[in-house]
Order: sequence, then C-alpha cells, then structure tokens
Amino acid sequence: MKDLLAYSTFSCKKFPERTHHHFRETVTSIAENIDRTVADIRQFEAEYQRPKNSVTLLAVSKKHSAESIEVAAQHGIHNFGENYLQEALEKILALKKLPLIWHFIGPIQSNKTRAIAENFDWVHSVDREKIAHRLSEQRSGEQVALNVCVQVNLSAEQSKSGTTLKSALEVCAVVAKLPGLTLRGLMAIPAPQSNFQEQRANFNQLAIEFRALAALYPTMDTLSMGMSNDFEAAIAEGSTMIRIGTALFGSRPI
Ligand SMILES: *Cc1c(COP(=O)(O)O)cnc(C)c1O
Repeated sequence: MKDLLAYSTFSCKKFPERTHHHFRETVTSIAENIDRTVADIRQFEAEYQRPKNSVTLLAVSKKHSAESIEVAAQHGIHNFGENYLQEALEKILALKKLPLIWHFIGPIQSNKTRAIAENFDWVHSVDREKIAHRLSEQRSGEQVALNVCVQVNLSAEQSKSGTTLKSALEVCAVVAKLPGLTLRGLMAIPAPQSNFQEQRANFNQLAIEFRALAALYPTMDTLSMGMSNDFEAAIAEGSTMIRIGTALFGSRPI
C-alpha cells in the first residue's frame, strides 16, 4: 500500500458530516471513493427525479498517475478527463491496452489541436470557431467523429475560457456542420460557490441554454457540469456528465 499522498476536503449539502472528509490516494481509497461517489450519484438521481443512470461519472485524472487511472478502471470507470496535453498523451500511451474513453477538458491552444484530434474521443472545451475547424480538419477520416461539447463561460470573466452564453449558438452551429465533429453538448465551470442554491442557479442558466440548443441540434445529449464540490447541485439541474477529480483521486500535487 502506498503511503498517504494527499488529503482534500469538500462540502456536501446532503452529508454535512463529510465536510472534512479526507480522501487518500491509495488503492483502497480510490476504490472506496468511487463506490461512495457512484452511490451519491444514484441517490441524487432518485432524489431529483432524474432517470436512473442518466448521469455519467467522468474521472478527472490530471496530475494523477497512470497507475491510479488503472485502479479506477478496474473499479468500473471508463471515462477519464485530462487537461494538460503532454501529460495526457503519456498516460494514453501507457494505458493503450485498456478500453478507456479519453476526454480533453482543458483550455485549447491552436498548436495543440492536431494531437487532441488524433488522441482523444471527446473534447469539452471548444469555445471558438477556429478551434472547431482545426479539430475537424485534423481528425482522421478513419476515426469516428470527435465528440464535442462547447464550453460556456457563465460568469463572462475575461480571464477564463469559454464562449459567452449569447455566442454559444454560433459556436454550436459551426460545430454541428463540421464533418469531423459531432456536437454533443455544453460544458461549464462556474465560479466556485459554496452556497447550494447559488450553485443551482448557475447550473440552471446552462441547463436552459442546453435545452434550447438541443431542440435545434438532435445530437446534443450531454450537459457536462458539476465537479467535486458542486455535483449534487449539477445533478439537480440536469447534468448528464459530472467531472470529478479530487473526490476520487484525492487532492492534486501542485
Ligand atoms: C480539474 C477539473 C475538474 C475536476 O475538479 P475537482 O474539483 O477536482 O473535482 C473538472 N473539470 C475541469 C474542467 C477541470 O479542469
């Protein structure tokens, strides 16, 4: 058993006693963290009248090792999210033998699109037309189309990536017509918010936009929202894919 590598805390409305829960990055604790998180997801689906199994758990493995990913894969996780291209490519190569689904969820620079198009199954962080065009051109004709979520910046902070809610329609229209891409949905990372009702209010804005766009684009079936500290609110508001790092793998080394 590895030594204790990391601790983290997060708060949870339903289980306030978990507010200082310690997550340990060990084989046992990754398995326990997965079990607990999956149980929470199923409970929140029931509690907020969501269909059973309508929420997919995307394990965010950035800054965590290929070994940790392998442990998670052995405990039933198939979807993994990565933010940093070089680090991700090393892990994708190391884990080639496993049937994993790789999601790129970090900011995208133009010069990184080819490697993303060639090595990932999904991209959640498309926020401008130029990036969409490059990803489509660079996706090989032998691969199935790359699944794309358009990232929306709900708080319209200039420093963060994501298109504005107003421009989401334009970016979605471009993605929808590109042959190398399949438009699957919207993604957002709202500013961290500890109040449950305010978390819900932010996610609700994205959910409303998602429903309007999904009525226009039938391939849209994915609302990518919710992280370790706010996934209950995200599920309450209709999330279909939560992106969880800390609650599964422990806090990240800096
Ligand atoms: C790191 C990251 C996550 C996971 O965050 P946790 O708080 O560790 O669960 C989810 N989504 C994106 C885009 C991230 O960069």
